[in-house]
Amino acid sequence: MKQRKHRHTGPYDPQTITRAVTHIRLEAANAGKLTALDALAQVYLALCQQYVTLFCTEERPNKLRAPLFATTLSERWQRVAIQQAAGIARSWRTNRAQAYQDYADDLLDYHEQETEGALDAEAEEPTWKEWNVPTLRQTCIQANANVVALEPTQDSIFDYWLTISTLAFRKQLLIPVKLAAYHREALKSKTINSSVTLNKRADGWWLTLSYDQVVPVHTAPSAPVVGVDVGIANFVTTSDGKHYGTFHGKLRERQKRDRQKRRRKAKLRKCLEKKGVKKLPSTSSRTGQRLARHVRQEINRAVNQCFTEHPDTQFAYEHLSVATMKFKARAMNAYLHASNLAHIPKQLAWNAAKRGVAAIKVKSAYTSQECSVCHNVDRANRPNQQTFCCVVCGYSTHADINAAINIEHRLGDAELRVCKDRKAIKALLLRRHQAWKQQNGWP
Ligand SMILES: [Zn+2]
Repeated sequence: MKQRKHRHTGPYDPQTITRAVTHIRLEAANAGKLTALDALAQVYLALCQQYVTLFCTEERPNKLRAPLFATTLSERWQRVAIQQAAGIARSWRTNRAQAYQDYADDLLDYHEQETEGALDAEAEEPTWKEWNVPTLRQTCIQANANVVALEPTQDSIFDYWLTISTLAFRKQLLIPVKLAAYHREALKSKTINSSVTLNKRADGWWLTLSYDQVVPVHTAPSAPVVGVDVGIANFVTTSDGKHYGTFHGKLRERQKRDRQKRRRKAKLRKCLEKKGVKKLPSTSSRTGQRLARHVRQEINRAVNQCFTEHPDTQFAYEHLSVATMKFKARAMNAYLHASNLAHIPKQLAWNAAKRGVAAIKVKSAYTSQECSVCHNVDRANRPNQQTFCCVVCGYSTHADINAAINIEHRLGDAELRVCKDRKAIKALLLRRHQAWKQQNGWP
């Protein structure tokens, strides 16, 4: 019922978080009302798609762009569609740019290893596959007060009236909204945001309301820092040596069973296809979806526990790029999707925001290969997935703990923060390693 989303200010400033109240069903007294909404949605979605394509290809996303495409929608609705399309295109462009940067880093890494003669036998040169422009499949309308109004009702069995402008000029839909007891509780004495989201699913129309909440940060900038490493074997490892949650054990067993089941299904499909059977069993897996949900729950539990056990600290955590995720999931790519690695930093940020704790993202490059004592960076420091053993100074510990300590040190490391890319970070770490050697009387 609650959703994450927050605007970024300084790490010690109050955080504004937006909480969403979802799953409010739209029930119309007569079916005709929602049919008018269906008709509107169809035109809206098609127009929104046109602007998404425009903003992903020919133009930069612009929320305030003047209407370009012909449509039967009112100008107000067109502005809503343009705004929503700009948002979708902006995040698509950001994600694509990030992925491209990761690819460039991967390529650099690959060629570095190639010249050093340190390539793994199964290593392949990274390639770039251009992204497709997003296709809007689900009906989702992010409406604002210009087209949809929510008003509390007086003496009625309903809680609100939702007024929606339609395709017909000056003709508005009036839909009663009835809240469940827990919705009412969540919204008690809150100021509901004027923008609402309307979603159409197989079972009808659903409304999402939201409200903003300002949470002051009670962590002092001088509070002790705990570094957090995220991974598969241990969802969360802290620099003080604690582990929280794992994908191994039960979850891994479930994932294996799910994979085998899907393989059997795929085989069966092939078999039936050969025999000319028209209606084939689906390959989508309900157990797979359940498993992914279960993994997210386990991650939430692990992160919660980590925050509870570190009440008066601030957190440093890594900016997880696709490249880092790939590295962390090396030899385990099949688990990457199920383990939902990217959910962990999101959950860390959300927990910090709602608890009023400072959590600061740091650069992740080489955190798993750098020795936290002498700053030597070497793949050979990792004889296996769990162990860190420095080939220069001999420092040895659990690999995730070494990484968490590096992450802890990176908070407040201004020199490292201004490094432009992995190459610059590697050069800086090499200089620090040389300095360490000199200080400690190494030849
Ligand atoms: Zn070392």
